[in-house]
Amino acid sequence: MDSPISASGGTPRQDLRVHAHSLAFLFAVGATLVVVTVGFHQPARQDAVGLLALAGLAYVAAVFLRLAWRSLPPWSYHAFVFVGTVLVSAGIERSGDGSSAYAVFYFWVAIYSFYFFTRTQALLHLGAVAAAYALVLALGPDSAAPGTRWVLTIGTMAVAGLLVASLVDAVRERAAELASRAERLHRAEQRTRAIIDTATDGFVAADEEGRVIAFNPRAEEMSGYRREEVLGRRVSETLVPERLRTALDDELRRFVDTGRSDLLNRPVELVGSHRDGREFPLELTITPMREDGGWVFNAFARDITERKEAERQIRDHAEDLARVAETARDLAGITDAHAARPAICKAARELAGAKTSILYEPDPKGQELVSTAVAGAQVDQIHLPFTGRPSGATTVFSSGQPLFVSDLESSSIAVQGVRRVLGVSSALWQPVVRNGVPIGVLTLAWEERVEDPGERVWSLMGLLAAEAAVAIERADLLARLEAVARTDDLTGLANRRAWDEHLPRELSRAEREERPLCVAMLDLDRFKAFNDERGHQAGDRLLKQVAATWREMLRPSDLLARYGGEEFGLVLPHCPLEVGLEVVERLRSVTIGGQTCSAGVAVWDGSESPDELVRRADAALYEAKKGGRDRAVSAA
Ligand code: GH3
Ligand code: MG
Ligand code: MG
Repeated sequence: MDSPISASGGTPRQDLRVHAHSLAFLFAVGATLVVVTVGFHQPARQDAVGLLALAGLAYVAAVFLRLAWRSLPPWSYHAFVFVGTVLVSAGIERSGDGSSAYAVFYFWVAIYSFYFFTRTQALLHLGAVAAAYALVLALGPDSAAPGTRWVLTIGTMAVAGLLVASLVDAVRERAAELASRAERLHRAEQRTRAIIDTATDGFVAADEEGRVIAFNPRAEEMSGYRREEVLGRRVSETLVPERLRTALDDELRRFVDTGRSDLLNRPVELVGSHRDGREFPLELTITPMREDGGWVFNAFARDITERKEAERQIRDHAEDLARVAETARDLAGITDAHAARPAICKAARELAGAKTSILYEPDPKGQELVSTAVAGAQVDQIHLPFTGRPSGATTVFSSGQPLFVSDLESSSIAVQGVRRVLGVSSALWQPVVRNGVPIGVLTLAWEERVEDPGERVWSLMGLLAAEAAVAIERADLLARLEAVARTDDLTGLANRRAWDEHLPRELSRAEREERPLCVAMLDLDRFKAFNDERGHQAGDRLLKQVAATWREMLRPSDLLARYGGEEFGLVLPHCPLEVGLEVVERLRSVTIGGQTCSAGVAVWDGSESPDELVRRADAALYEAKKGGRDRAVSAA
């Protein structure tokens, strides 16, 4: 509704337009009524011309108001009211006396004024009308009771005007209330919009048909669609890939139809899709809301790529730990002392995704590190001396601190030989520490260049190195136990058990290498007598001396074992019979304490079993004894 024109407040253009048009309407209708009534009334020609002239002026005013209202200042409307009053007054005057029916036009002024102006302004206008009417009544021909007519007319105008004013007030108040309510609603909407627009979640609202009615910037970012593009489209087309659309639509429809849904009111993990086809894990929470008699679906969408990634890492980590535990169990289950080290390398290589894994340990003399196990490469044993330019493994062994080198080629440490042999680009060295003391170095090497092995590999290697330390210690212990089990207590030579294991291996090797092999059995002569004469302990000492002396005279690859009592077995690989006899003669020549010994020597025939071979050597020994002792006899 229009606000009254006032001197104080500015008046909007729109109001002035209504103002001008209403006024023009009144002028035009008034003029028309005058023209019509002149036709009915047929006044004197002179009066008729005057009235029609006034009507003409009123038309001019109407047309002027319609055309020129834009350039009229607000105060000019007071002038128009004045013009109207003058025209009406002139009309009354022209039409005869003060009883003229045209006085009714004064009411138009009153109604117009009280409607469009403030009460005070309207009362001032009314004052002007009252004065004009008084003037008309005074100047015009005598009429019956002009005072009564004036008072009734002006009084009725005041009553009608004030009535109009109060009606207008009531209507305006109501309008203002509605306007302020609309304004409040608008502000609330804007606040909601601001919250939704700045939300880190994607927000999509859809109507009952599943058509988008709100789409926030985060949703735009996630989907790649702009708000304007998706408004009115199906919500399922905006965030989920093609294959899930029907299911989502169906679910919303099912809810509208039945009030039930498995998908609504709780976060559901789905696949989200960007318009460029990229897919991502999406968490969608759709909350239906009853609004204006229909359902509105508010959907909060969250890209949970990061959360999924974190979950995956935790799962991977758990898997890694499980694999380390499994490796530890495997290592603990290894009863073969030689199998533990390769198992460590194999596990390290697999877990870290490396090309090669090498385990280095100090040699017994402590002068160098040697590779004791390798996985992922076929290489001869690697020797890394502690003196000279330090290598990665010797550096780590000395410092006890792990080391990673991304670019081996340009590294200053001595690794180039190994790098070239293995064909690797990056390497990591992890000390294997037992009770605070380094006992080895576990090395990983990658074929492709690795910038950073990553937290995962570091922690894996730490865990694995700890397991390796335990496994190595256990393997060594096992090896020592095994050695003990294969060693003769008295002489320190291999015992019968070791002999039984060793001989078949040597025979297979001889077969493989197609080289001769001799077995000799040596027995001290009349040793019972020696014992009897010098005592058993002297006999023991002699046995030890003989063993040590003979051992010294043989090659490392020859096996001298205490076969039993005072009988020794000798395996001579790469040895034809003549040489075997020579060796035996040499041993016999140094017999200690005046003791002689007899020997039987047999060369392997290439097919007989270890037992058969030993039996032939034994038979030869028997021959030697029978032939008078202190001699060696070769088997037939
Ligand atoms: P032959 O020339 O026929 O071999 O006579 P021998 O006395 O050496 O043979 P025999 O088999 O009759 O006796 C073996 C003796 O070797 C019996 C035992 O006193 C002695 N002997 C065997 N083992 C040991 C040992 O560990 N320590 C000592 N001191 N003597 C041993
Ligand atoms: Mg003997
Ligand atoms: Mg004997």
